[in-house]
Amino acid sequence: ICPEVQEEIDEFMASFRKLDLHYKIVSKTGEGTFSSVYKAIDLQYNKYINEWDLDERTAEYCSPRSKRQRFNQTKEKVKYVAIKKIYVTSSPQRIHNELELLKDLTGSKNVVSLITAFRHLDQVIAVMPYFRHVDFREYFRKLDITEIQRYMRSLFTALKFVHAKNILHRDIKPTNFLYDCQKGRGVLVDFGLAEREERDGVCPCTRTRGAPPKPTASVGGYPKNDPRPSKRANRAGTRGFRAPEVLFKCNRQTTKIDIWSAGVILLTFLSKRFPFFNSPDDIDAIIEMATVFGRAKMRACAALHGATFETGIPTISDKGHSLSRIVEWATSRSKNDPLSSGEKRALEFLEKTLDLDHRKRLSAAEALNDPFLTNIGA
Ligand code: ADP
Ligand code: MG
Repeated sequence: ICPEVQEEIDEFMASFRKLDLHYKIVSKTGEGTFSSVYKAIDLQYNKYINEWDLDERTAEYCSPRSKRQRFNQTKEKVKYVAIKKIYVTSSPQRIHNELELLKDLTGSKNVVSLITAFRHLDQVIAVMPYFRHVDFREYFRKLDITEIQRYMRSLFTALKFVHAKNILHRDIKPTNFLYDCQKGRGVLVDFGLAEREERDGVCPCTRTRGAPPKPTASVGGYPKNDPRPSKRANRAGTRGFRAPEVLFKCNRQTTKIDIWSAGVILLTFLSKRFPFFNSPDDIDAIIEMATVFGRAKMRACAALHGATFETGIPTISDKGHSLSRIVEWATSRSKNDPLSSGEKRALEFLEKTLDLDHRKRLSAAEALNDPFLTNIGA
C-alpha cells in the first residue's frame, strides 16, 4: 500500500469507533463517485488473526500452522470482506435506499449481498463479501466469444434476479459488475442509484403521445417559440450507458433501461472500444446515438416519450447504420478479415438488447433464453 492510502486507512480506522475490533483493512480495492471501498479481514470470523501472517508468496493471510504445512495441506483461507465507506456528502435518503435495497437482494450468487452495516456519527459503512475481480480495461479486448457469452450470461442472471424484485439498478457499467475471468463469474454491485419500478400511475409520456404541441418554427433543428412544458425525470446513471428513454426524459422508466446498458457493454466487447459512447451531456448523447441508429428511428423513439427529435447535422443519415457495420468500422475489418460466425451471433443478440424501443427490447429473462446465452461455446 502506498503511504497516502495507508494514511487514509489509518485516519478512517481512527475516526470510526471500535471498527478495528471487527475488521483489519489490508488494502483499498476501489473508489467510486460516492464511496471508497476497502478490502478487509473479518476478525470475528477469523478469530485468531493476530497470530496470522502474510504469506509473501501469495500476498494472502494464512495461519502460522497452514504456512508451515502449506505443502502438505490446503491452506486455511481468511474470509475477506469489502467495506464500502459511503461519503458523508451523500444524502441520508440515498444511503438508506441503498442499504434497504441491498437487504432485499440477498439470495443470488451474481448479486452482492449485505453482511452488515454500521454508523458512527455521520459516517455509514456497508460490509459485503469481497469479490476478486480484474479491471475491465485489462480484459475487454482479449475475451473470445465464448468468454463474452459467459460474462453476459452472468450479468443477465444478476439482472433477472434484480428485475424480478421490480428493482431498477440504473447504473449498469463495467465498474459495477465485478468479473472474475478465471472463474467466469461476475457479481453485480453498487445499488446507490437503484430504485423500485413504479407500477401504477399514468405515464405522462403516453398522455401527451400522439399529439405533442408543435413548436411554431424550426431553424436548423432548433425550435423557436417552443410552447412545450419542460420535462423532468430521473436521469441518474453514467454517461455513455443511459438508455434513450432516460435521455428523452421519460417519466416512467422501466427495468429495460438496465438491458440497454448491458447492451452497451456487449457493444464495447465487440467493437473493442471503451467507452463506446462518451458524450458529457444528454443532448450530445442523443446526437451520438442518432449517428448510429439514424434519424427515422430516433424520431419514432422521441415520439414514444412525448418528445420530438429534429436535427440538421449532415452526418446523421435517415436510416443510420447496422450494428455489424459499426463493429466492422470500429475494428477496422477488411474483406480478408470478415466477422466470424460467433461475432455475427453476438451481433444478432445485440440488436435485440439495443432496441431504441424499450417495449421491443429483450427482458433479462428473455435474454437468458436466447440461443446466444443458452448455447455457450457453440
Ligand atoms: P460507488 O457507489 O462509489 O460507485 P461501488 O459500490 O461501485 O461504489 O464500489 C466502487 C468500487 O469498489 C467498485 O468498482 C469495485 O472496484 C470495488 N468494490 C465494490 N464492492 C466490492 C466487493 N464486494 N468486492 C470487491 N470489490 C468491490
Ligand atoms: Mg460504482
